[in-house]
Amino acid sequence: MTLFSDSEWNAIADRSVEDFRTLLRFETVNPPGNEGEAADWIVQRLAESGVESRVFRCGPDQLRPNVVARLKGDGTGGGPLLLTGHIDVVPVELEHWDHDPFGAEIHDGYLFGRGAIDMKNMVTMCLTITAALRESGARLTRDIIFAAVADEEEGCTYGSKYMVEEHPDEVRAEYMLGEIGGFTLDVNGVRYYPVQVAEKGICQFRMSAHGDPGHGSMPHDAMSTIRLAEALTKLGTTRLPQHEVATVRENIRLLAKTQKAPASLVLPLVLNPKLSALILKKVIPDRGLANTLAANLSNTVSVTGLRAGQKTNMIPGTSTATLDGRLLPGQTSQDLFREVEAVVGSGFTYETIREFEGIEGGTDDPFFEKICANIRRHDPDGIPLPYMIPGFTDAQYFSRLGTKCYGYSPLRFPAEDEVKFTELFHGHNERIHVEGYRWGLRCLWDLVVDVAVAGD
Ligand SMILES: [Zn+2]
Repeated sequence: MTLFSDSEWNAIADRSVEDFRTLLRFETVNPPGNEGEAADWIVQRLAESGVESRVFRCGPDQLRPNVVARLKGDGTGGGPLLLTGHIDVVPVELEHWDHDPFGAEIHDGYLFGRGAIDMKNMVTMCLTITAALRESGARLTRDIIFAAVADEEEGCTYGSKYMVEEHPDEVRAEYMLGEIGGFTLDVNGVRYYPVQVAEKGICQFRMSAHGDPGHGSMPHDAMSTIRLAEALTKLGTTRLPQHEVATVRENIRLLAKTQKAPASLVLPLVLNPKLSALILKKVIPDRGLANTLAANLSNTVSVTGLRAGQKTNMIPGTSTATLDGRLLPGQTSQDLFREVEAVVGSGFTYETIREFEGIEGGTDDPFFEKICANIRRHDPDGIPLPYMIPGFTDAQYFSRLGTKCYGYSPLRFPAEDEVKFTELFHGHNERIHVEGYRWGLRCLWDLVVDVAVAGD
């Protein structure tokens, strides 16, 4: 169904690009966040289109804002659809940027700025769509909730986590669209659009080795430092057991089906626990790809901190490592500790720092089908590819309200430019192709109209 003429739509897209640039100029670097002025501007921009919004503040001095707006639907099309993005961004290393990361400058068709793809693009697209729906007067068949949240880059505490825990009725939805997906990914000349349907969980913990204290002049064979070092060496050189996740299986199946030999033949073999170690180590030439695949097949642990001893001539009785453990969906902290213990042996103590389980939205859902159809409609050669990220996003928290979460912030990069989304994400010279942004805006608009606007 068409709500705007071509020229009306072009004007909406022009305004959206300018709004996007405005949002990029707010320095919302987290830490500390500083999302306040950007949030105020979002409220004002929504108001200009007749959309009322509320700001939910939290954190020290109530400085962290979350903007939420709701367009009411009659519910005949289903439960609410949450359109969401975070307005904070990661820090920059200025010396590596060719242009001001907060200048929103356009050069050679690219708009430069910290947040250009992570993820003020999605925030602005959701803002534009919310405003345009209101201005169109369209009758909605489900509520549309727009939530621009704080603090994702430091773990969501003052953003999605706060909203879900303190104001769940404001953000509870049947479906969520957010990051990280919908971008072009070229693999051997085939164009894919990864759609995020799963995220790993977390089990960050301390692991301590114990031994006999003593004087540094008298080494012995029960030193906690050595026990810990030996255990960590084993952990660093052993892959934890493989577990199959439906999203990963589907991802690899589809990749293999659409690639040529030898990739089409080799890829499915990584699902075989007996062969995967060999394939990952020897057969896949791209280390980045091999590491990503490995992270998708097992729980993982990275040693990120070490602490032992106070004095050079004292052998400490306890030595401790900090580990960042990541859990496949369906796995728990207890599962991970069992797997770690199987590698390092007994005698260590474990203390959990932070834990939550992974999530999986599922590909056998009509909403996921709508996303795939949306991609095919706007790029007939593009292949929608369900995938799991090894990290986590706001979806971790929104999913706790029963929401099915998908990472779909459509965005196209021209193939000939060889600009890679994955390298720009948190990278230097973060930028977005302006025409690719307008393309994505149209994709997302058509998807939202498809699932939430009554036909006539
Ligand atoms: Zn992000």
